[in-house]
Amino acid sequence: MSTNPFATALAQLHRAASILHLKRDILTQLEKPMRTVEINIPVRMDNGRTRMFTGYRVQYNNARGPFKGGIRFHPAVNMDEVKALGFWMTIKCATVGIPFGGSKGGVAVHPQKLSTKELERLSRGWARGMYPVIGPDKDVPAPDVYTNPTIMGWMVDEYSNIAGKKTPAAFTGKPLALGGLRGREDSTAQGGVFIIQEVVKKLHLVPSQTRVVVQGFGNVGYHTARLLYAAGYKIVALSDSRGGILSINGQSMDPDVVMKTKREKGMIDGCYCLGTVCDCVNFKKITNSELLTTSCDILIPAALEHQITGANARRIKAKVVVEMANGPTAPGADAILYRRRIPVVPDVLANAGGVTGSYFEWVQNKEKSRWSQAKTLKKLRPLMLASFNDMWRISRKHKVDLRTGAYVLALKRIALAMGK
Ligand code: GLU
Repeated sequence: MSTNPFATALAQLHRAASILHLKRDILTQLEKPMRTVEINIPVRMDNGRTRMFTGYRVQYNNARGPFKGGIRFHPAVNMDEVKALGFWMTIKCATVGIPFGGSKGGVAVHPQKLSTKELERLSRGWARGMYPVIGPDKDVPAPDVYTNPTIMGWMVDEYSNIAGKKTPAAFTGKPLALGGLRGREDSTAQGGVFIIQEVVKKLHLVPSQTRVVVQGFGNVGYHTARLLYAAGYKIVALSDSRGGILSINGQSMDPDVVMKTKREKGMIDGCYCLGTVCDCVNFKKITNSELLTTSCDILIPAALEHQITGANARRIKAKVVVEMANGPTAPGADAILYRRRIPVVPDVLANAGGVTGSYFEWVQNKEKSRWSQAKTLKKLRPLMLASFNDMWRISRKHKVDLRTGAYVLALKRIALAMGK
């Protein structure tokens, strides 16, 4: 099976299209992005020399509203990955029924190797280069892997400078002072937790006895683990890109304690340290591949694509997989897990709290208002639950996996918007 994420995206599209009997002309349109943009970004480095970076934006589909999707800064970014991510944004916005199409952007860069000033010049360069194709009613970028509110702040400032007027609705995921939304920072995680609470009910699990494993300790992985720990779930394994920590006897870990050690040591260590007392007996270091096959109730991939594949799907020992990353499960693995009766709550719903938070931020900026965090959470929960229940019902009706159920729901909405 191919490791190309766009091949994965197309396989998922075709599967749902056949269940839905999607009209051929709609399928053909959805097999390709509406527009791909590639730019050269010259960045003056601190040593005085200029380095070129490649920036991408894929505007996949805008039948349901302005293009919407994050920007990823990662060395592995390439056009096929951005195309897949743009496609998934299209399906995601339709799954939760927010009035956006889908897009994605990125830069092939190792952001940790740049100084803050270099990162700012690169971010401003991306916004300047993409200025002609983005905007509040055209295409609205947001954070993704290794981008954050500070970066959105630089970009929206650059955009506003060129436009000659403050344009906060051009980007979402901004700092609060620049029109950001209270609660956007952890809205992806929060949306996922609302869904997990429903899944737990469906599977008759008890939160205090539910063992959770989280792969990835960025914005999404960290906040998801933190919120689940606060809700009484047992966090038994966590990891970042370099490896992780496993609780050998099932004792729960406080993600904030792990974060503190990670900050001090620069990585997730195999010991669980409360202050100066480190427990290296009941906890141990594990690799990311060991983490995925750890025995648990809920496995949460929250890092990158293509983690659960034909190679490890038979060894997954979770009762349910909740995809907080985009595209972590390969189509071959989907089929294996379905046969093994391990439900996979798909990315296009599980992590849709992020773009839904972005939608609230965009509305807030358009109506020049200020939402409270309470208002955001009050609006987020019913929206996530309604889509979850629709997806569950459709997948039962057609006797298909949850991903295909979500895609059927989304594709119907996209086809309607296309006038078919
Ligand atoms: N990058 C996030 C995602 O993959 C958020 C996108 C957005 O808010 O536009 O869903």
